[in-house]
Amino acid sequence: MEIIRTVNRLAQVVDAARRDGKTIGLVPTMGALHAGHKSLVDRARRENDVVVVSVFVNPTQFNNADDLRTYPRTEEADCAMLEGCGADYAFVPTPDEVYPEPDNRVFDLGPVAEVMEGAMRPGHFNGVAQIVSKLFAWAKPTRAYFGEKDFQQIAVIRRMVELEGFDLEIVPCPIVRETDGLALSSRNVRLSPEARAIAPQIHRILADSVDLKKQGYEADQVEKLTLDAINNIDGLEAEYYSIVDARTMQPISRWADAGDLGAAGCATVYCGGVRLIDNIRY
Ligand code: AMP
Repeated sequence: MEIIRTVNRLAQVVDAARRDGKTIGLVPTMGALHAGHKSLVDRARRENDVVVVSVFVNPTQFNNADDLRTYPRTEEADCAMLEGCGADYAFVPTPDEVYPEPDNRVFDLGPVAEVMEGAMRPGHFNGVAQIVSKLFAWAKPTRAYFGEKDFQQIAVIRRMVELEGFDLEIVPCPIVRETDGLALSSRNVRLSPEARAIAPQIHRILADSVDLKKQGYEADQVEKLTLDAINNIDGLEAEYYSIVDARTMQPISRWADAGDLGAAGCATVYCGGVRLIDNIRY
């Protein structure tokens, strides 16, 4: 595996691969890699001739300076893991390489970006669109892999792809969890032992909410019961729990209002001061 630091070198290798008629799989990450990231890289490896994994903590998507400053950075371990997964290239640029000048682009992301994470983290999705559009332009992937853990992000990226006219396939990948149900996240290392013991309750409550639907409760009722169940746990505090159309991200109050992809329930929960996100499909 080659570690690439510059956009020029990345362009060289992907242009050569394209000339040879090879397919390129791209996995964008912010590093601190875990088994969730590995599942994306493994899938990209199975489905493409060339695998590029980007490792870049993108400053423009952080709306909280402390979060950016304390975001875990484990480059050496990340590169070792990627080598073990059989990735061909790790693209590990500096912020100056990615942003030689400020990126002032404002994407018209529309309703998918206005709710939930978009409402709670102003500018976050615009920053995601900035970095992912740069990575797509540079790596020229045939396919790009994203985790359903960041469920709304996938809808936002689809919208950005439509706006920018990229010709590529977005491949959503299932959430990888610890055996106790906690969704893997680079931020889990911030959990104290006490918070770590409580955090799996989030997934348990979301999984239970699927049973509530089976028992005949309407979407608005399930939303409220789930929100209450989260907030009734000592040590958990929900920022929101929203049941939405899985394509448009717009809230629904009746199951029948969900479109072709069905409904999803998306949660953001504070656990011992750590902001965790998770979701479930109904
Ligand atoms: P991040 O490094 O957090 O920006 O994540 C990079 C990619 O890995 C994103 O597409 C995430 O959705 C995905 N990802 C993160 N955690 C998980 C997980 N537990 N399961 C599956 N994909 C994940």
